[in-house]
Amino acid sequence: MYKQKINKLLIGTNNRGKLREIKSLLPKSIKIHSTSEFNIKSPVENGKTFKENSLIKSKYFSKKTGLICLADDSGLEIDFLDKSPGIYSARWGGKHGDFSKAIRKVYRELNKKDKSWKNKKIKARFICVLSISYLNQKIACVLGKVEGFISDKPRGKNGFGYDPIFIPLKKKKTFGEMRPSQKYKMDHRFQAFKKIRKFL
Ligand code: IMP
Repeated sequence: MYKQKINKLLIGTNNRGKLREIKSLLPKSIKIHSTSEFNIKSPVENGKTFKENSLIKSKYFSKKTGLICLADDSGLEIDFLDKSPGIYSARWGGKHGDFSKAIRKVYRELNKKDKSWKNKKIKARFICVLSISYLNQKIACVLGKVEGFISDKPRGKNGFGYDPIFIPLKKKKTFGEMRPSQKYKMDHRFQAFKKIRKFL
């Protein structure tokens, strides 16, 4: 385990929604840096798992800046679609990361599979793998998840990505309809964060 106290940390993401959420979880005593200060493009995510992609990002951004880096790889798994989009969640939004395009693709794929999918409960989960690296060395890597269902239409304007179509277990609202502070307390990133806290 990395023994030194971490007092500054780079958040290795160019996704503003993730940056906002991760910032809100970190202790105020840590000085936070973001990739926009360095103007670094994201690396090619050619891993086969969330874990591999998370480590690709934390190592890459750490090597580019010389700072310890916390990175996230996350996505949505829909059981009825054989766990798609999974690690391809961002890529379903196309080159420009258009989240409404990604959501349309989810509904298109569900319709292709079964025209009456709305009569079924479509089980899904968000996964988040957080990793901390310093240069090429892994300091920590943990996985968090939140189980739920796909709503039959997008609801709510909060959050980002697939938030408007995901209803967490035992709730009625989609993540897109919840206040950010409510979502942040129960989601996949928070579950992962609880496990990685001890390394900070
Ligand atoms: P990554 O940057 O490759 O990890 O992309 C993750 C993608 O998964 C994002 O672009 C979103 O589409 C989706 N995603 C991850 N976390 C969330 C979340 O908390 N809410 C909604 N969508 C998410």
